[in-house]
Amino acid sequence: MNADEFNPGLLTFLNDSPSPFHAVKSLSAPLGSAGFTPYNLAQSWTESGAESETLYVTRNDSSLIAIRRGSSTITECGLRIIGAHTDSPCLRIKPQPDIRRAGTVQLGVEIYGGVLLAPWFDRDLSIAGRISARRPDGTRASLLVDFKRPVASIPSLAIHLNRDIHKNRSINPQEEVVPILCDGREHSVESFRDILLEQAESQYPNESLAEVTDFELSLYDTQPAAQVGLNGDFLASARLDNLLSCYVGLQALLNARTDQTIILVCNDHEEVGSTSSAGAQGPFLKQVLERLTKNREELSATLSHSVLISSDNAHAVHPNYESKHDPQHRPQLNQGPVIKFNANQRYATTSDTAALFRDLCREAQVPVQSIAMRSDMACGSTIGPLTSAVVGIDTVDIGAPQLAMHSIRETTGWQDPAFLYRALLAFFERPA
Ligand code: ZN
Repeated sequence: MNADEFNPGLLTFLNDSPSPFHAVKSLSAPLGSAGFTPYNLAQSWTESGAESETLYVTRNDSSLIAIRRGSSTITECGLRIIGAHTDSPCLRIKPQPDIRRAGTVQLGVEIYGGVLLAPWFDRDLSIAGRISARRPDGTRASLLVDFKRPVASIPSLAIHLNRDIHKNRSINPQEEVVPILCDGREHSVESFRDILLEQAESQYPNESLAEVTDFELSLYDTQPAAQVGLNGDFLASARLDNLLSCYVGLQALLNARTDQTIILVCNDHEEVGSTSSAGAQGPFLKQVLERLTKNREELSATLSHSVLISSDNAHAVHPNYESKHDPQHRPQLNQGPVIKFNANQRYATTSDTAALFRDLCREAQVPVQSIAMRSDMACGSTIGPLTSAVVGIDTVDIGAPQLAMHSIRETTGWQDPAFLYRALLAFFERPA
């Protein structure tokens, strides 16, 4: 499959997934269409039909594990697992967000993850996520909402009022990153919860709701994902880190021709350290894997033959900042997936797992690159080392090359998602 065939589905997935909750919905829908059964860990696997060949489990509506069981014996052949994360750095709306200043209504937000703040100014922002609402009979509804239209913005301060801005810019998130929702004098303005109630009622006309009590909502850029560059060489979008990997992993899971047992794990909370019940440092994957085997001995035999590819985007070299990369490790856009190395185990790649991934790329006729950080710069991390440590499984950290990581608009190569797809498909299809 080439990039022009592969990328339209990715663009739709990116646009349809403005929050981790929506990402899990966007992953679940094609799994359901392909016959995957939703499964609940509270049920017994045997009674609930979870012995079926294809199933998926979600946690907190924001993490998902999908499993395709093959005919090969997992205690002898192991599991092939692809891991990614559903969350991206963003602005989250605070629980009591109503602010009125200078004739405007504003929203109090907190910073989720390592947000590159400057690009959030002067964007047409919308709001999406999950709300909890109380029904008139006292029961609770948990609903996804997405305003879709631009309902907020964070205007810059004019340069005339800030002459020194290009000398030493710093951004105070509490004071300066406060979105404006509307004109506070023109309209009789309701509380944000009332605005949410109206939105929920318009999205769910059959639901009877008394009040919105709580929410996990983030702001997002309404500019859709696009092919960009004079010759269409690049793909620009919000949340490429790491919805790109979620989508590519999903396609590999759905389309692989294999008799191996293959798994896709998409965790929430990677951008804030992964320590949560739905995060990679929590018990979610282990609890699901325990259900695949009859006892601990079988589980450890299975894990000893298993491999995890942790797929999360990698820093491509920026032409304006080439010196930020080690001269021998400068991955470029459109040059294929990047194997991530770090001697201090910020990435879980070993020589054996890197060699496996190189073999997969060779088989799939995909170029492959390597990255190690400059020795005088700190390294990021991903779900790879955490999952590897929690579950005890050989892991390689890889990812599509991208620029502007954690910006509201990130850029990858137009060719790179399809390159990654072919490599991940080869992983799932490789005979034991
Ligand atoms: Zn990431």
